[in-house]
Amino acid sequence: MYVGRFAPSPSGPLHLGSLAAALASYIDAKAHNGSWLLRIEDLDTPRCNPAFSQLIIDTLCAHGLESDRPVVFQSERLAFYQKALNAILSAKKAYYCECSRKQIKEQGGIYLNTCRTKHLRSGAVRFIHTQPITKLNDRFKGTVLIDDGHALEDFILLRKDNIYAYKLAVVVDDIEQGITHIVRGDDLLSTTSAHLSLYRHFKCSAPVYAHIPVLKDATGNKLSKQNHAPAISSFSATENLLKACEALGVRIPTYVKAKQQDVPPKLLLEHAIQAWRIKHMLVDNQNIK
Ligand code: GLU
Repeated sequence: MYVGRFAPSPSGPLHLGSLAAALASYIDAKAHNGSWLLRIEDLDTPRCNPAFSQLIIDTLCAHGLESDRPVVFQSERLAFYQKALNAILSAKKAYYCECSRKQIKEQGGIYLNTCRTKHLRSGAVRFIHTQPITKLNDRFKGTVLIDDGHALEDFILLRKDNIYAYKLAVVVDDIEQGITHIVRGDDLLSTTSAHLSLYRHFKCSAPVYAHIPVLKDATGNKLSKQNHAPAISSFSATENLLKACEALGVRIPTYVKAKQQDVPPKLLLEHAIQAWRIKHMLVDNQNIK
């Protein structure tokens, strides 16, 4: 059984980079005859906006990317994160930390686990990241060494402003939703070390990871909401999907591209799934005539 997902943060509308990530996770799931779930990661309330959540869902839908189960919103699942946090605290695998960003910056930018032995009673909650997992077997990239200092520090589970951290919520949800495969942008690669440590703590087997290169603009910057990547329009869904396919190296037949005005997104997705099967050798040899 393959269960994949796309988990956008609604801090802005969908752009071509996030469409490519959504598409890769979708076609990989479908190429494996699996299911694909959509989860809106809207915990960071100062940065997220419910209007963007709906816009992202609608835009994905206009591109033929529909969740196989009802869409999950992290903002509705706070009790799960609290339960997981309590369990980690009871196991004495976490501690409170009162260091400010400024202080950490002054110490070189990497958190030096300063509060680990201070027994504080308030502040952010950090996971005691002993024996961080630094080697990842990535389906697309092969063996990857994670040596980014941030990836190995005691990471935040609950922020000082009482917001559950992405690293905790994503693992709690992926476990609870039974996610077996994760396909996402390689800007998230270094966070995987923290994710794997949480899987180990919860005694759950980790999903299979596959990271794809993030899309960049003409100046080499990652296409992102922070860099004001332009929003994609649902009115040019097929054209957008074709661009995303090209960025992912998914070869759509020329005759399909030539008559793209007549190709509905769902049909284009079928071509993309087939091309992905061939690209990643998921084709059953007996079916090749
Ligand atoms: N919500 C995260 C983001 O938008 C992605 C989470 C994930 O795929 O693990 O960057």
